[in-house]
Amino acid sequence: MAAKLIDGKALAQSIRERIAKDVADLHANTGVRPGLAAILVGDDPASHLYVKNKQKACDAAGIYVDEHKLPASMSQADLLALIEKKNADQKVHGILVQLPLPKHIDSKVILDAVSPAKDADGFHPYNLGRLVEGNPVFEACTPKGVIKMIESTGVGIEGKRAVVVGRSNIVGKPVALMLLHRHATITICHSKTKDLPAVCREAEILVVAIGKAKFVTADMVREGAVVIDVGVNRLSDGTFVGDVDFGPVSQKAGWISPVPGGVGPMTITMLLYNTVESAKRFAAAKK
Ligand code: NDP
Repeated sequence: MAAKLIDGKALAQSIRERIAKDVADLHANTGVRPGLAAILVGDDPASHLYVKNKQKACDAAGIYVDEHKLPASMSQADLLALIEKKNADQKVHGILVQLPLPKHIDSKVILDAVSPAKDADGFHPYNLGRLVEGNPVFEACTPKGVIKMIESTGVGIEGKRAVVVGRSNIVGKPVALMLLHRHATITICHSKTKDLPAVCREAEILVVAIGKAKFVTADMVREGAVVIDVGVNRLSDGTFVGDVDFGPVSQKAGWISPVPGGVGPMTITMLLYNTVESAKRFAAAKK
């Protein structure tokens, strides 16, 4: 493999150690223990696994988890009432609503009901608006994890030509904005982009978040590029791969993140980070 590996798991672990120290210091100095409300509706196995992993990471860092596992039949009104309760709960500094929600519940209504001051996932329109301004409070976890991974390479972002493939509100658009604020020159691509391979080949930094297994092939990658693969795709044999064809692309890129063990662990770590930063703001406001 010519490219250097961006080991999301190792990077996440080192950041989690710092977070655990921050949690201990905050608790010792102010009596505030960071708390995350984790709300899970229904019995989707993948969602249960994601919440379990987030809970484990919180436990290891000393963050209190207020877990709510609710039946798929619950009403939107009851879920809204729970969120209102958690918005007012002094022990909770971050609120995570695991997606997807059952079809009879409008995710947008629910996410908009989370207090922007406790929006640890960074999905609330207020926090997205602050990001557009370049003055963010909570930054969405996956995009923030992507930025930390790029920064970990030592390849400066400023002035670089960056291409983001995917324009979702939770990954593509916020990643592009975060790169823009760090002075990269950005192109955002999507399913209607013409000659995607040619656009991707211009990228010194290439972030791919589309959800299509091994879609980005070596001929789409510039020699020496930093390649971050956000995609998670389950193959028929049960294994997971990213949106990037890792083997051939790693022969051409300068840096590459794997799947699994890349962006995934960093996403969870940024949720912990956001929860602790929120608790610090809460403690400072109490003084
Ligand atoms: P969405 O489905 O919301 O968005 C996909 C984007 O990819 C859209 O903008 C779509 O374009 C674009 N796209 C689809 N096909 C193509 C194509 N052939 N060429 C160019 N662009 C294309 O996905 P998400 O952003 O939510 O997630 C993307 C991937 O990242 C998924 O695999 C998901 O599982 C993964 N993910 C991983 C996380 C982690 O922690 N590791 C966290 C979040 C997501 P258009 O807008 O035109 O339809």
